[in-house]
Amino acid sequence: MSDSGDDFERTIVFGESALDRIRAYRHPAYPRIYEVWYTYATCYNPLLNQAINDVLRKRGKLSEQDLDALYDMHLSASRFPTRYDEVGTKIREEVDQMVSMLDAARGSASAYGETLDGITRSLEGAEPTKVKMVVEALMRATVDMQSANRELETQLVASREEMLKLHDSLEAIRAESLTDPLTLLSNRKFFDMALEKALSEGKPFSLLVTDIDHFKSFNDKYGHLTGDQVLRLVATAVKQNIKGQDIASRYGGEEFALILPGTTLRPAVTVADHIRRAVMGKELVKRSTGENLGRVTISIGVASFHANDNAASIIERADMCLYAAKRAGRNRVVCETDPEFEAGANRVA
Ligand code: GH3
Ligand code: MG
Ligand code: MG
Repeated sequence: MSDSGDDFERTIVFGESALDRIRAYRHPAYPRIYEVWYTYATCYNPLLNQAINDVLRKRGKLSEQDLDALYDMHLSASRFPTRYDEVGTKIREEVDQMVSMLDAARGSASAYGETLDGITRSLEGAEPTKVKMVVEALMRATVDMQSANRELETQLVASREEMLKLHDSLEAIRAESLTDPLTLLSNRKFFDMALEKALSEGKPFSLLVTDIDHFKSFNDKYGHLTGDQVLRLVATAVKQNIKGQDIASRYGGEEFALILPGTTLRPAVTVADHIRRAVMGKELVKRSTGENLGRVTISIGVASFHANDNAASIIERADMCLYAAKRAGRNRVVCETDPEFEAGANRVA
């Protein structure tokens, strides 16, 4: 939006200001500390500035621990989605406000023009020429004003488009920060948020936790890169067996977690079994050599929402079902009402 010369000057000023603060407070110039002070200089994050100013008012300086806490609170990656949301919404609101102000201004300018037009007509022949000249001069001024307004409007519309593009890029960054790059499923962070949302709604849903069987030996035998291909294949099997509102995430290295909204235990077990069969049904062929690598299997644990569940409790039940499936021989689905799960739960107790 602005030219790169401006950006250059501005960022140097912010950078210098950050280094000045680092020197003044004798902080180490670690990237995260620099980032705190750099962001402070930009004033782009008002909450961060407010928090820093509060500490400075109280204690006159900031310790390294203060900066770490401020960084975690206001700048760390986990804050990204919210921050981008805030920035994006703000940009849109500001621009919308500007455009509607301008619409109003243009409306009143043309109403002004019409009024003068009316006056000119009513003065026709009746009033002295001088009065008419004055009104005509006013008319010209109005026309000039309208044309200036139109120019301004064109500029604003262009900058609105620019801002909307920026908003879209922010959206893309936000989506990227919630996506697992290998499988293109959502990532753990997104899953955690989705699970909290499902829990807060209090409606029935089920949670599936999957884990590839003997994956370590597969990696050891065929290499990590081939292992990664298998992760993509499992992700595809997952995607092909869920519906629109279901959420599938890469929960950890070779573990996937799924939230099936509005789905009770039995139907969830059916979905899990479809996924399990789909994975088992795929013959693995190494792309580069055409070598047949056999098949992989997965085990799945299934739990359903109980009235008093929190994230930890429902994940724990699904996990225990998964372990029960592993114990029972792998390549199977175990849910929380199955005898395998009960046996495991009793052993733990
Ligand atoms: P089990 O049947 O008990 O699950 O046996 P396992 O060997 O799969 O055991 P576990 O689940 O503990 O193994 C995790 C292995 O998954 C370790 C590592 O080799 C592999 N793994 C984890 N993340 C990745 C990844 O991103 N890419 C690849 N290729 N392998 C991964
Ligand atoms: Mg595992
Ligand atoms: Mg495994």
